[in-house]
Amino acid sequence: MDMMKKVPVREQDPKVRATNFDEVCLGYNKEEAMEEAQRCLNCKNPRCVEGCPVSINIPAFIEQVKDGNIEEAYKVISKSSALPAVCGRVCPQESQCEGVCIRGIKGEAVSIGKLERFVADWARENNIEPEKAKEMNGKKVAVIGSGPSGLTCAGDLAKLGYDVTIFEALHEPGGVLAYGIPEFRLPKDTVVKHEVENVKKLGVKIETNVVIGKSTTIDELMEEENFDAVFVGSGAGLPRFMNIPGESALGVFSANEFLTRNNLMKAFRDDYDTPITRGKKVVVVGGGNVAMDAARTALRLGAEVHVVYRRSEAELPARKEEVHHAKEEGIIFDLLCNPVEILEDEKGWVKSVKCIRMELGEPDESGRRSPVEVAGSEFEIDADTVIMSLGTSPNPLISSTTKGLEVNKRKCIVADENGKTTKAYVYAGGDAVTGAATVILAMGAGKAAAKGIHEALMGK
Ligand SMILES: Cc1cc2nc3c(=O)[nH]c(=O)nc-3n(C[C@H](O)[C@H](O)[C@H](O)COP(=O)(O)OP(=O)(O)OC[C@H]3O[C@@H](n4cnc5c(N)ncnc54)[C@H](O)[C@@H]3O)c2cc1C
Repeated sequence: MDMMKKVPVREQDPKVRATNFDEVCLGYNKEEAMEEAQRCLNCKNPRCVEGCPVSINIPAFIEQVKDGNIEEAYKVISKSSALPAVCGRVCPQESQCEGVCIRGIKGEAVSIGKLERFVADWARENNIEPEKAKEMNGKKVAVIGSGPSGLTCAGDLAKLGYDVTIFEALHEPGGVLAYGIPEFRLPKDTVVKHEVENVKKLGVKIETNVVIGKSTTIDELMEEENFDAVFVGSGAGLPRFMNIPGESALGVFSANEFLTRNNLMKAFRDDYDTPITRGKKVVVVGGGNVAMDAARTALRLGAEVHVVYRRSEAELPARKEEVHHAKEEGIIFDLLCNPVEILEDEKGWVKSVKCIRMELGEPDESGRRSPVEVAGSEFEIDADTVIMSLGTSPNPLISSTTKGLEVNKRKCIVADENGKTTKAYVYAGGDAVTGAATVILAMGAGKAAAKGIHEALMGK
């Protein structure tokens, strides 16, 4: 065994997977996981734990995997995380736990994410269930949104004996895990539904199809329904557009709508009648993880897909693994160019995208070199579908219907590191506070808010 390198993980062949929605990564089996676990140095001061926003005791769970005690490994992870099968699949480990792993200094970091995924999948296949609180404490908490921040906050509070109800606007719980991240990266029926069920097994109730701000408000929940505290984990689901000519043409989607139609409403399956354009030539605008997901989804629906991004490859914000997978599957990257107009045919459908070449100038406030247009370099890319993936912001519905809940200029709810907002007994966290970020940061925020709510209510 080469201790410098990760035990390779099995994946579907790129040519085969480009035509199906099955999971790309097949994960470790027990032998592979136990072999990879041997590479952990069990450091005295484990930097990986500091690198994890929910502080999973990583060396302790890996030690159990080393000895083949997978149930014990699951118990260690479950103390800190309610969604290990999700995080093992979608966390950016390279910039968190694995990014600071001592093994990574001379060789490759320990494959912490793939080990976490193996343990969580094993627990699911072997029907290992989370433990419920022994006694209820008589206090009621409402959680708005069933994404990773809401599920984590709800799960932690339920373990402490609170009576928790999650209110979710959509008909399925899970937030972005259910409606955004595609099936081929995060299977819904097995992984997402199971982890949501585990949160319910802790005693959490989930009411779907309830839009807070329309069906009822936070003030009504607290004043009329007697909730002692509220956690807002409503995410950042409002898409941005470029405001260029032609953006309202038929065949232009936000990435969120395109992905929701596929993931939540199963447009890719023949047994569902959700409409979606199965474009032949699709242009995805943007370079983040969401853009990669939209591009790889369109490819699987049978299109030739171009990703148009205004900076160079080095600045692509998507995870390296996602870009690598996208390239392997045949996505075409048009870098250093930006759309200036969407051209329509006589029926109002997208015909092509007019782009202009860019070059990199001085760094902007984010530290990245700013793209500058190259005069006279316009060109067209034929397209029948355009998917805008330019980022999202929080929907102002909740802040505009709640008295005393302050938001900042970006419409994000103002909250401190414990999730405390400007309104008494209302806490918030995840993308609703930070703007679009990551699953694990949202979970970290849900955890901090659960602690904040517990301290506030127990002192009440
Ligand atoms: C396509 C896509 C791919 C991504 N890939 C990754 C990845 O690989 N790795 C990673 O770490 N992160 C990824 N992210 C980001 C990550 O998913 C988010 O940062 C995370 O889900 C935020 O969690 P949250 O709980 O704050 O909000 P969300 O997951 O957005 O959940 C919010 C929930 O609140 C509900 N809601 C909103 N308003 C109301 C209301 N008024 N009343 C009731 N319910 C309401 C919404 O319907 C939603 O279900 C991705 C995001 C997208 C869109």
